[in-house]
Amino acid sequence: MKILVINCGSSSLKFQLLDMSDESLVASGLVERIGLDGSRLVLKTNDGEEHTFEQPLPDHTAALKLTIDTLISPEFNILKSLDEIGAVGHRIVHAGEAYSESVIIDEEVMDAVEKATDLAPLHNPPNILGVRAMQKIMPGTPNVAVFDTAFHQSMEPPAYIYPLPYRFYEKYRVRRYGFHGTSHKYVFETAAKFLGIPKEEMRTITCHLGNGSSLAAIQNGKSIDTTMGFTPLEGLVMGTRSGNIDPAIYHYVMQKENLSPDEMDQILNKESGVLGISCYSSDFRDLSDNASAGDMQCALALSIFRRSVKKYIGSYAALMGGVDCIIFTGGIGENSALDRRYICEGLEFLGAKLDPKKNKVRGKLAEISTDDSTVKILVVPTNEELAIARDTLRLVQA
Ligand code: AMP
Repeated sequence: MKILVINCGSSSLKFQLLDMSDESLVASGLVERIGLDGSRLVLKTNDGEEHTFEQPLPDHTAALKLTIDTLISPEFNILKSLDEIGAVGHRIVHAGEAYSESVIIDEEVMDAVEKATDLAPLHNPPNILGVRAMQKIMPGTPNVAVFDTAFHQSMEPPAYIYPLPYRFYEKYRVRRYGFHGTSHKYVFETAAKFLGIPKEEMRTITCHLGNGSSLAAIQNGKSIDTTMGFTPLEGLVMGTRSGNIDPAIYHYVMQKENLSPDEMDQILNKESGVLGISCYSSDFRDLSDNASAGDMQCALALSIFRRSVKKYIGSYAALMGGVDCIIFTGGIGENSALDRRYICEGLEFLGAKLDPKKNKVRGKLAEISTDDSTVKILVVPTNEELAIARDTLRLVQA
């Protein structure tokens, strides 16, 4: 069976078509500037070629219609007919407290996603548009929702209740939700299989380090805590997001600079993190290059980022009474040997010893701890699309 995986943003969408008989990628692509001038589809066929189609795409339905038409066009010989697509898997950011698993989409699911829009105003609306468009274009084909928040729904109240008046939770569902759940779950399950250890027997810390970064503590096969919170702003220092700061700074800076709540929100989400500290870039390769050339601000940004990851590893090991496996994933986690080295430096007291030679690996599944390290340290490339396709297949076959 072939599964189409869709990830809709406000003006863009990414897709992958996977053949689940061997989990191979058949085609992938990106639609950009939906509803804007200059909209275009870039299709990548599995011979590595890119094909660009520029045409007006006023909305997500038009973008997905063009995607489907291209996939069945005889020119590319990807699909002979739409019937070959057995199901569509959608990345949906927020399910509130409604779902702890992926689900086949019906109107009840759509109601729950609409209700959670308040909690993810930038992400859920385009996710909903993507589902509605596919329901129109391929009415007989099942759609499956795979939620970013679902994996962390296993957290217990001590992990997800904030120390605020309890009524904010009761009235507005202000609590920790956590994000990147599909990635944390995928790399954890891949690692357990790779190591041949039952999932329930591993105390694992997954480090998803990219433009947005989060850690999760996984015990008995379940997420017991994670660094992102009510929104993806909490936790680690990120590319442009501040992560944890003293909440009083918010009010103080707003008063000093005469800012509105929206302006302050923009600063914390888009102008802070390593970009804010370095005054240069949110891209870790740029920061690394500049730091090597002697730029102190870039070096400072990197060391604050690495320190924030290390602090959470320590606290999650404390929560679980130790750790058996630390996993690095995401653009930085998979590719940056230097960041992994600095993050792991000093973790020997936990039994985690990085092997400098093995650590030279980039972008592939590998163990990078020394033979005598009691904690397995792994690089596991994440693959959220494959995780979505697997869940979709499992649900439509059940
Ligand atoms: P992601 O959001 O997962 O795509 O990750 C993007 C981040 O990964 C960017 O900040 C990139 O600079 C960073 N990245 C990718 N490759 C490397 C590398 N070799 N060294 C350091 N950072 C990297």
